[in-house]
Amino acid sequence: MCAAGCRRAATATGTTGRTGDVAAALRIGVIGGSIAGCAAAVAGRRAGADVTVYERSRADLQERGFGIVIPPPLHAELVGSGYLDAAMPTAPVGTRVWLTRRPGGRSARELARQSSPVTPCNWGLLWRSLRVSAGPVRYLRGRPVTSVGREGSGRGVITTARSGEAYDVVVGADGHASATRRLVAPGLRPKPAPYAVWRGAIPLGALTGHPRELELLRGAWVTLGFPGGHGIFYLIPGGPQDGDGGTGPGNRLLAYAVYGRPPEGADPGPYVHELAKEHFPAAWADIVARGGRRAAACHPVADAQAPRVARPPLLLAGDAAGVTRPHTATGAVKALQDALCLERVLRTTADVRTALERYGAERAAAGVHLVELGRRMGHAMVEETPDWPTMGQREVDVWFRGVLAGTRHYLYEEPPETAAGSGGRGRAPAGPM
Ligand SMILES: Cc1cc2nc3c(=O)[nH]c(=O)nc-3n(C[C@H](O)[C@H](O)[C@H](O)COP(=O)(O)OP(=O)(O)OC[C@H]3O[C@@H](n4cnc5c(N)ncnc54)[C@H](O)[C@@H]3O)c2cc1C
Repeated sequence: MCAAGCRRAATATGTTGRTGDVAAALRIGVIGGSIAGCAAAVAGRRAGADVTVYERSRADLQERGFGIVIPPPLHAELVGSGYLDAAMPTAPVGTRVWLTRRPGGRSARELARQSSPVTPCNWGLLWRSLRVSAGPVRYLRGRPVTSVGREGSGRGVITTARSGEAYDVVVGADGHASATRRLVAPGLRPKPAPYAVWRGAIPLGALTGHPRELELLRGAWVTLGFPGGHGIFYLIPGGPQDGDGGTGPGNRLLAYAVYGRPPEGADPGPYVHELAKEHFPAAWADIVARGGRRAAACHPVADAQAPRVARPPLLLAGDAAGVTRPHTATGAVKALQDALCLERVLRTTADVRTALERYGAERAAAGVHLVELGRRMGHAMVEETPDWPTMGQREVDVWFRGVLAGTRHYLYEEPPETAAGSGGRGRAPAGPM
């Protein structure tokens, strides 16, 4: 029996308090039409529900073309289950390369290589694919939700400037500053980290004159350590307006995220260029500089996790449920997993309340784990950076396993020999670049 498909049983037992047409589909209202909102819409539709999405922005969200990395098995699951189109371009690589600037010089030194299979996506193309998969849901653009209430029957009421409508389930997918979160987890305040992140996506033209760096990026994603922070660099598919406009490997952007502390009083936006000039190997500083100021956005880093993410009929998804420091590369991943979980509980649970409670227990625990991991990563990779130039393969492996503290994460694939305890690596030696 399922919550979404078997409305007669759910209503007969009074779990949603609905009266009227007991055979009608479950009604789900989603607040926010970004990654989490569109993924929740796909989940609801696949579970047989009637879904309405309210999105505050009038603009096409596809224009937010930054990089998003997801684990390959999740990508395969989303394609297999109809959330993503198999034709959505991705730029998969299997290796993470750690670099730093050679002391006293301007060249790069490779510290280590780790097995790290990832599926880099373009945020805008990911959103577009989810939006298309959601199909004919009611997607209301330019429709900010002004309040969420509850009917005497137990259903949620979503109110906008134009109307109020009742839903069996209300999904708060309204992002990191979620107003819905305040109803589910009142009093929760995001905890700021003492540093910022600059995020950019720049045309591959910025790599003209840097063929070694381009070749490296075609097979790996790069972490560049410097005193007081690090940057990550990886290729993502370009959109229709980038490169040759196609969907093949010829159309790529270079995505980056650089973590560090802008000095007091400095204009944080352009500071990434100074930081790169001071600490990066010359080639990487040049690449960031060529990206221009237009390409980069500077965000404060903060995290928060709602201790509960469901209070029927409300539930939280994506950043509304919890925001982790971006080092874990899991904000969108979590939103996608939230959707898969929502579909599963709606399909396999007899009544809506129990379905949402199951969702809440599972997803809050996953969020807590990621927030803790993000803090450990931020501490180790920005707040108390190691002496990068003294490190080699073994030191990076040991140090990073310490950061993971016995947990598993998709950005680090444990080598079989290490898992077995031998410590041997059998990898190409780390060398100069
Ligand atoms: C530097 C950086 C790197 C990252 N890298 C990765 C990565 O590699 N992998 C990964 O998985 N994640 C990554 N993330 C995280 C990821 O980008 C976010 O977690 C994800 O985009 C959040 O999606 P969302 O739908 O929950 O929230 P949002 O995208 O913020 O969407 C919320 C939506 O709700 C709408 N909204 C808000 N209020 C209302 C209202 N009242 N009424 C109607 N609509 C409303 C907004 O307009 C918005 O469209 C990264 C983040 C950063 C900052």
